[in-house]
Amino acid sequence: MTVKTGRPLNVLILYSNTGGGHRASAEALRQEFLRRNPGHQVRLEDILLHRTFWPLSESDRFYFWMVNKAPWAWKALYASVARREIYTTLHRTLAPIIGPRVRRIYETFLPDLVVAAHPLLNHLPRRVLRRWEEGNTRTPIPFATVITDLTTFHPAWVDPEVDLITVATEEAQRNVLHLGAPSYKVRILGLPIRESFSHVPEDKHRLRKELGLIPGLPVILLMSGGQGMGPVEKIASAIAHANLRAQLVIVCGRNDALMRRLKARGWPIPTRVLGFVEDVHLWMGASDVLVTKAGPGTIAEALVCGLPMILYSYIPGQEEGNVVFVEKRHIGAYITDARRIAQTLARWLRRPDDYLYPMAKRARALGRPNATRDIVDALLSLVNTSTRGKSRAIRRDISPLASA
Ligand code: UDP
Repeated sequence: MTVKTGRPLNVLILYSNTGGGHRASAEALRQEFLRRNPGHQVRLEDILLHRTFWPLSESDRFYFWMVNKAPWAWKALYASVARREIYTTLHRTLAPIIGPRVRRIYETFLPDLVVAAHPLLNHLPRRVLRRWEEGNTRTPIPFATVITDLTTFHPAWVDPEVDLITVATEEAQRNVLHLGAPSYKVRILGLPIRESFSHVPEDKHRLRKELGLIPGLPVILLMSGGQGMGPVEKIASAIAHANLRAQLVIVCGRNDALMRRLKARGWPIPTRVLGFVEDVHLWMGASDVLVTKAGPGTIAEALVCGLPMILYSYIPGQEEGNVVFVEKRHIGAYITDARRIAQTLARWLRRPDDYLYPMAKRARALGRPNATRDIVDALLSLVNTSTRGKSRAIRRDISPLASA
C-alpha cells in the first residue's frame, strides 16, 4: 500500500547525529516522504547537538570517545540512564531548558506530523507538543516513534502515550510491550534503510565487474559502522594472510586515518580500501559474506542483500541483542578473535553449500527491503486518520513522565 496525502505536509523528524544509524534512518525517512510528494517540507532537527548546551551539545563526541576508548564507561552510563527514575529525573531537569526551544520549533515550523528517531526525544517533545496544542486551536498533531535499533534498545525510547511506535523485529516488539506500550500502537515494519536497498541488482558477477572487482572471485566485505571504529586493521590483516581464495573490500566509513593507513599497506590478496561510500547496497550486493560490528543499520541492510555475517564486536547496551539475533536465526556468528574470524571464513568459503548459501537464504527471508516505505505509509495514515482520540483514552499514569 502506498498512502497518498492530498496536501503537502510539514513533517518534523527529531533525531541526533550520535552514531551513523540515527542519522541514516532519519535521512531515509526524509527521502521517502519527498519521494511521495516533493511538496512535503521535511525538517530534520538535531535537538541534542543543536538545541541544548554543553555537555549535551557535545554528546556525539562523548559518545564516540566512550564507545571507542572506554566501552565499559558507556556500558555503565547506559545501564544507569536505563533506570526509569534516572531518565525521568533527567527529562524533568532538562524540561525547562529544552522545552521552550522545542516549542519554538513547533511554533515556527507548524508540523503536521512529528516523528522521533532517537531514544531521548520522545517523552519531552511529545509533552511539549500536547501543551502547545492545548494553547491554540490547531487540529491534533500525531507524534510517532520510529525505533532505529534492531532488537534491544534503551527504555527511554518507549513513551506509551505517543500515537505509534514502529519496531524492526519481533524481539523489539516484545521489549516495547514489556515497557508498557499498548499493543495497538506498536507495529513491526522493519528498520528504515535507504530506498536503494529495495532494488539491489541480483547479478553478483556483473556488479563486481562494474565496481572494478574480480568477477569470479568471492568477496569478503569488512565494515565498521558509519565511523569506522574498532579493530578493523587487525581483522583485515588476519583475513588477508589466511590464504583464502577471495578478495577483500574494506569500508572505513568516516575514519580517514584508518583509510589512509590501510591504503598505504601492501595486501597479499586482492583488496580494495574505501572511505565513506554512499552506495553500500552495491558493495553488499557484490559480496558473499560480511564482517562487521553489530550495528543495526548494517545488519538490516545485510539481511536485505542476503549476506551471511560475522559480528566481531558490539556496542554495550543497544547492540547486545543483535548478536543474539544473528546467532539465534543462524545467519552468522559472533567471533571476536581475528585469527578465528579468518579460519571461519575459510571454512564457510570452502563449503558454501553447507554454510554460506543456507545462511544467505535465511538472511534474505528476514530482510525488509520495503521497510522505509511501510513506515512512511504508517506515519502518513496517522495524519489521515488521527488516532489521538484513542491514545488520550490510555491511562495517563502509565507514562513515566505523566506527572513531570
Ligand atoms: N554506512 C555508509 N557508508 C559507509 C559506512 C557506513 O553509508 O561508508 C552506513 C551503513 O550502511 C549503515 C550506517 O552507515 O546504514 C551505520 O549504521 P549502524 O547502525 O550499522 O552503525 P553506527 O554507525 O550507527 O554505529
